[in-house]
Amino acid sequence: MSETERSEAPARAVVQLPHFVDGRARESSSGRYADVFNPATGAVSARVPLASAAEVDAAVAAAHAAFPAWSETPPIKRARILFKFKELLDRHHDELAELVTREHGKVFSDAKGEVMRGIEIVEFACGIPNLLKTDFTDQIGGGIDNWNLRQPLGVVAGVTPFNFPMMVPCWMFPVALACGNTFVLKPSERDPSASLRLAELLKEAGLPDGVFNVVHGDKVAVDALLAHPDIAALSFVGSTPIAEYIYTEGTRHGKRVQALGGAKNHLVVMPDADLDQAVDALIGAAYGSAGERCMAISVAVAVGHIADELIERLTPRVKSLNIGDGMNEASEMGPLVTAAHRAKVQGYIDAGIASGAKLVVDGRGHTVAGRENGFFLGGTLFDEVKTDMSIYREEIFGPVLSVVRVPDFASAVELINAHEFANGVACFTSDGGVARAFSRQIKVGMVGINVPIPVPMAWHSFGGWKRSLFGDHHAYGEEGVRFYTRYKSIMQRWPDSIAKGAEFTMPVAK
Ligand code: NAD
Repeated sequence: MSETERSEAPARAVVQLPHFVDGRARESSSGRYADVFNPATGAVSARVPLASAAEVDAAVAAAHAAFPAWSETPPIKRARILFKFKELLDRHHDELAELVTREHGKVFSDAKGEVMRGIEIVEFACGIPNLLKTDFTDQIGGGIDNWNLRQPLGVVAGVTPFNFPMMVPCWMFPVALACGNTFVLKPSERDPSASLRLAELLKEAGLPDGVFNVVHGDKVAVDALLAHPDIAALSFVGSTPIAEYIYTEGTRHGKRVQALGGAKNHLVVMPDADLDQAVDALIGAAYGSAGERCMAISVAVAVGHIADELIERLTPRVKSLNIGDGMNEASEMGPLVTAAHRAKVQGYIDAGIASGAKLVVDGRGHTVAGRENGFFLGGTLFDEVKTDMSIYREEIFGPVLSVVRVPDFASAVELINAHEFANGVACFTSDGGVARAFSRQIKVGMVGINVPIPVPMAWHSFGGWKRSLFGDHHAYGEEGVRFYTRYKSIMQRWPDSIAKGAEFTMPVAK
């Protein structure tokens, strides 16, 4: 089916989604449901169950029962299952992307990119035998050797946001499973279908029942995971208030927690930047996925005289964004995820005007022919934005770009370093000295030099600083392997090398 044909496919009947526990789909018994929308049409496409604490218990029990055998499975055999899973993901790449577009709204080509970034983590996890290799020291003392182990934690949980329903779960479970843990995923209730398909494909790849489970839900389910004595660790990605809550509650219950939060990403345009490249970068990074990316650029920092020309070049580009159903291959930007989220973003635009920012392009009231009930919002551009305005301080998570004018490089660095969020940042310049100084001085977790969205590849690790991440480990890559394993150091000797008699002094090499 071509992408144009896909956009004309008839509306589907509303389906009731199951949980996925112990290797099979389970109907919910909680009696609580939430609607899942197709954001492009505004129609309800599915109903997702909101699990009770008892349903969470059942999923954790399945994962707990599966742990002994899975953790004893040799890493090379775990890797083979993940390799098969990777082949299935390749085969179902378009299908997964379509699930993402139909529930999230992002354009199909972007959803395909999301699926690819998820696959890359699976590829990384396939190298687990090498990643679990550790150090060995021969003869630390007479007849004694010392080596390290990285052992799995047990049952680990993931709680994920709506904006990457395929990729963000893949930041977690491929690495966790490869390390020998079993997993309970609580995906976003706004776009839950991709996670169910991932569970089915894992089973098809040969993953034993109970090793990977999906429980849908809201705060009730998350709180049950946080308090559950059999959950050893929890990975969270979502907004900062919830990330902070998860970190505080999870660690209070003695769990290892990594909680990635919200963002307010700046892109600095230096006077010597290639302005064509900077404008292209800003349009893609601010309006791609309707700004619903934790690495979206929402502030352009115009340094010196460049500001007027930047606004002049951005304005027609924002006005002419091609906005439509994400399944239409001509669309550059899709709708927002829900009507409630669109109303929230519109509220920020109202607040920006009220606080005195200059509205250059107004996206409110944008409609798409044939999709009048979709949750669309046009691209919006503000100039003269000040640091005390809510549109500057808070994460909007929509297609709204604010331009802040500063006199020089030092002011740009000072401005960014004073923000509470520190996920991603970019600097566009043609001066190597400026690029180096920026990379070193900026207090942000991920930095792009002439790269607008610096999302690290699978074998590096992803994470912000300050209130964009609570915990000690970034996601995936080697940081992921460390997060999902416990370090053990073993010292061993054999009876024939043991000297007779008790020793009462600190052991030292003899
Ligand atoms: P959210 O915080 O509303 O929800 C995230 C998850 O938490 C969902 O599974 C949700 O069901 C659950 N949740 C919601 N309220 C809860 C509560 N009161 N108690 C317990 N659990 C609760 O986030 P969202 O709107 O789904 O996603 C967008 C946010 O995620 C943005 O802030 C974005 O910046 C952030 N995000 C961050 C990263 C990152 O890597 N730092 C990546 C993607 C998204």
